[in-house]
Amino acid sequence: MSGGGGPGRFGVIGHPVAHSLSPQIHAAFGRQTGIAIDYRTVDAPPDAFAATVRRFVDDDGRGLNVTLPFKEQAHALCGGRLSPRAVAAGAVNTLDCRDGGVAGDNTDGVGLVADLQRLLGGVSSLAGANVLLIGAGGSARGVIAPLFDAGIDRMTIAARDPSKAAALAVAFAPRPIEAASLAQVGGQRFDVLVNATSASLAGAALPIDASAYAQARLAYDLMYGAQPTRFLVDASAAGAATTADGLGMLVEQAAESFLVWHGTRPETAPVLALLRARLDATLA
Ligand code: NDP
Repeated sequence: MSGGGGPGRFGVIGHPVAHSLSPQIHAAFGRQTGIAIDYRTVDAPPDAFAATVRRFVDDDGRGLNVTLPFKEQAHALCGGRLSPRAVAAGAVNTLDCRDGGVAGDNTDGVGLVADLQRLLGGVSSLAGANVLLIGAGGSARGVIAPLFDAGIDRMTIAARDPSKAAALAVAFAPRPIEAASLAQVGGQRFDVLVNATSASLAGAALPIDASAYAQARLAYDLMYGAQPTRFLVDASAAGAATTADGLGMLVEQAAESFLVWHGTRPETAPVLALLRARLDATLA
C-alpha cells in the first residue's frame, strides 16, 4: 500500500511512453539532492488509464507524471482534488498519490515560464511582453494563465482553426487576448513567440508571415530534439534574436513536480546540460 514509511515509487504514465526522458531527469535530480528515487515509465492501455493508476498507487506508488494522451483523463480522475493551476489548465501532468488518493497539479505552465525567464535574462523579463501563442490544444491552454501571472501585457492566440483560439480567448477573459488564424498573423510586433502546436513533430512549416518573427526577442518551440525544429529554423531566418526548443521546459516542469513530491526544488541547469549533451551525442 502507498503511504508507508519507505521512499515509494514514482513514474511517468503515458502511451507510448518508452521514449520519455523523465526517468533520466528524475534520476539526475535524485543524485543531486541525495533523495533515493525509484522512477519508471508506466505504459497504460488507452482504455485503462484509471485502472493502471489505481494499481500503481496500490503498489506503493506515490507520484506520477502524466503525458500524452492522458492529461485530460488525469484531470477527470482527480474529481475536485485539483490545484488552482490544474483547474486553469484543464489538464493534469502531476499526480500526488502520497496519501493513497490522487490529487492533480499542472507544472507545464510554470515550467515554460521558468525556461523563458532563464532564456530572456531573469524573473522580470516577461513583464510587458506581447506574446504570440501558436496552437490551441492542451499545452496552449495550460500556459496561458502562467504567462499572464509572469507579467506579460497581452497575447494573440493563432490556430489553424481560429474558432479554437477564440474559445481560449473567451475562457481566459478578461485577460487581453486576441484570437487569429495563422494567416492573419503578420505585420505585428511580438516580443515572444511560443509554438504550442504539434506541427514540428511532422516537420511541418507553419504558414505564418515572416514579419511576425522579425522583432522577436525569443521564438520558442515546445517540441524538442537533437536538431532545431522547422519553426525555429524559420524564426531564426526571419530575424528572431534567440530561438530555443522545449527541452528546458521539460526539465523545469519536472523540477516543479519533484518539489510537489519531495519538498525540494532541484537545480535545473546541470540536468538540462546533461540532457542536451546526450541529445547532441545522438547526432555524432
Ligand atoms: P494537442 O494535440 O493538445 O494540440 C496540438 C495543437 O497543434 C492543436 O492546436 C492542433 O490543431 C495543432 N496542430 C497540429 N498540427 C498542426 C499543423 N500542421 N499546423 C498548425 N497547427 C497544428 O498537443 P499538446 O498541446 O499536448 O502538445 C503540443 C506540442 O507540445 C507537442 O509537440 C508536445 O510534444 C509539446 N509539449 C512539450 C512539453 C515540454 O515539456 N517541452 C510539454 C507539453 C507538450 P488542431 O486542434 O486543429 O488539430
